[in-house]
Amino acid sequence: MRKKIVAGNWKMNLLPEEALELYRKIDSDYFADACELLVFPPAVYVMELIGQHGKVPVGVQNFHPEESGAFTGEISVSQVSSCGAKYALVGHSERRMIFNESNDFLKKKINAALAHDIVPLVCCGEPMEIRDVEGHVAFVTNQLAETIGHLTVSELERCIIAYEPVWAIGTGRTASIDQAQEMHASIRQWLKNHFGEHVGAVTPILYGGSCNASNASELFACPDVDGGLIGGASLDAASFLKIARSF
Ligand code: PEP
Repeated sequence: MRKKIVAGNWKMNLLPEEALELYRKIDSDYFADACELLVFPPAVYVMELIGQHGKVPVGVQNFHPEESGAFTGEISVSQVSSCGAKYALVGHSERRMIFNESNDFLKKKINAALAHDIVPLVCCGEPMEIRDVEGHVAFVTNQLAETIGHLTVSELERCIIAYEPVWAIGTGRTASIDQAQEMHASIRQWLKNHFGEHVGAVTPILYGGSCNASNASELFACPDVDGGLIGGASLDAASFLKIARSF
């Protein structure tokens, strides 16, 4: 009853011909019945990849919530939607930590995305020092309260959530099955408490953090894990597609 989704975050990787080749391989080998796929390439490739008219939707890794103006180097959400992108990452820990994006700023980004019919893939996750003191559930639910807690039920229905423990991103260290399931169940319970049983039950919650072709099937077997947000392993078409067939 919930969508199964595997999304690739290409981060700041690949040259133009590599990005095109990766997209074409993923798109041509993709069986749409396994799950939904999404890719998030660097912004300079988004229009060309959308222009391939493939089955795999292309989203943006970042945008600015303002409509236009003096924000050198930024891309507005209207520009994103005019280019045909329908998905955007919001709240990735690299944006939070390297670019100082606060929960308040992320809330504005989520509002802007929804106002332009872009689905925000909202990322949350705790750093290691918070998990060490057993503060992970409170930390993550606070991130959610401050970024999506204000949404209406119909707005939340258009969001995808990704739980990405910061200590697992790009480290080769994956959350255990118990750690992933505990947090996904807690996020789902929080969604049910705030938005109602139905929307909490149907919102996709993806796991991210060193998910790869070897560990995806056990992670995806967790009852509250609906797929993955994949960094490193999404840069290779064969491993990304193997992850997509791990349900
Ligand atoms: C990510 O960047 O969202 C991510 C999960 O990266 P990796 O799979 O490389 O840990």
